[in-house]
Amino acid sequence: MIRELQPTIPKWKFSQDYHSRSLQALDTALAQVAVYKSWKSLDPGTSYPIDARFAAMPALTKKDIREHFPQGILPRDQDINQGLASGEIELVDSSGAVDDKITNIWNQKWWDASEKASWKLNSYIDKVATGDHREAILVNPRNVGFISDNIDLPIEKRRLARFLYLNEKTNPLSWSSTHMDRMIEELNAFQPAVLEANPSYLARLCRYIAANNKKVFQPGIIVFTYEYPANFHYRQIHQVFPIPMASSYGTTETGYVFMQCEEGKFHQNSKFCRVEFQPLKPKHGGPLVGRILVTPFQNPWSYIVRFDVGDLVCLEESGKCPCGRSSGLILSSINGRKANLTLTCTGRLVTLFEMDNTISVLEGVDEYNLVQIDSRTYELHLVSKRLDKQHLSEEARGILKKLYGENANILIAYESAIAPESSGKYLISRALFPIELENYLDVRYLGKKSVRS
Ligand SMILES: [Zn+2]
Repeated sequence: MIRELQPTIPKWKFSQDYHSRSLQALDTALAQVAVYKSWKSLDPGTSYPIDARFAAMPALTKKDIREHFPQGILPRDQDINQGLASGEIELVDSSGAVDDKITNIWNQKWWDASEKASWKLNSYIDKVATGDHREAILVNPRNVGFISDNIDLPIEKRRLARFLYLNEKTNPLSWSSTHMDRMIEELNAFQPAVLEANPSYLARLCRYIAANNKKVFQPGIIVFTYEYPANFHYRQIHQVFPIPMASSYGTTETGYVFMQCEEGKFHQNSKFCRVEFQPLKPKHGGPLVGRILVTPFQNPWSYIVRFDVGDLVCLEESGKCPCGRSSGLILSSINGRKANLTLTCTGRLVTLFEMDNTISVLEGVDEYNLVQIDSRTYELHLVSKRLDKQHLSEEARGILKKLYGENANILIAYESAIAPESSGKYLISRALFPIELENYLDVRYLGKKSVRS
């Protein structure tokens, strides 16, 4: 008899602290925070295991936070005005898409502690990040740094503590060669231990460095934040910086959630957050691919429970990593945002990770994005210096038909450059119609019926 082998979800290991922090987060939220009032009746009770109690709760959405902000998401006795007046906290807008934006309470001390804990999850960062190490940052100033689109800011206006912000322009398409030469010179003079970057921004600089044979200082490690690093980005950056790179995953609401280790897997920052995984149906990549819900720990100004961060991940099936770290979830990949999902002609979900791996076999592509217009029409925008565009188009059409189906109608357009969204981030793929991720989750894992301990 032939049996189909289904992958199984590994059993993860956690410290004792992890369970007590989870318990503290849930109990405080249910007892003292207004936004969770309607959740109380869903709690099976303290005689149930903590995982079952969490599993019985719904997911917290950005809409919930927006509607209860600010006092409704804090414990009753926590006074936001006092926190703001003392400088312990400030209010910041999250860097999501415009209609997705929310205001958050920003606690710098907690953020720094969460970041510091994540450094332990990568040996290269752990070695060079002393806490007072020099760090250069190449991101959109809408996310962090100083904005100045009309005049160039001198270096002293872009320094803050141990950081140097290399870019003050909100649109990277406006970077002139003088501007990029300035970035290179500043890297050479500042000699950062860590270079933190939006992958698409650093890839743009690297294409310029490679095309002009420039020499640039090599930091200890490059850390990617804010965006999904596409295969083309990795390739273009690695050509100029043949050094360790790691992707750091987190959100404004939840702090640092996963860090990529030196072996390329992603480890949960389990001292600072709880992560729950909800698999997709097998047809769509489950049970290893699914969405994550995050509950940050130890932040007196944030009682976010089971927050739907809007990203998909793939679990490491072996449950292990050659680096030896074993506390918390281990992922083989981060698969992109919900907003990046597309569908095949037969309705199967395609994550950005799968689409990007498909496209990345093409040679000589600088940038691209893919827009799904309807159930079988896909528009691929390419930036390429290749002269044989006809051939490139045929290749692209062939590989996309293999992914999306022989009936797929693939339209190809060539662009001189691709601009980021107004949020400052690139949207590599998207569908022009809504895809409700909840409909693709495997209900067998949603844990509504829990077993009493
Ligand atoms: Zn590892």
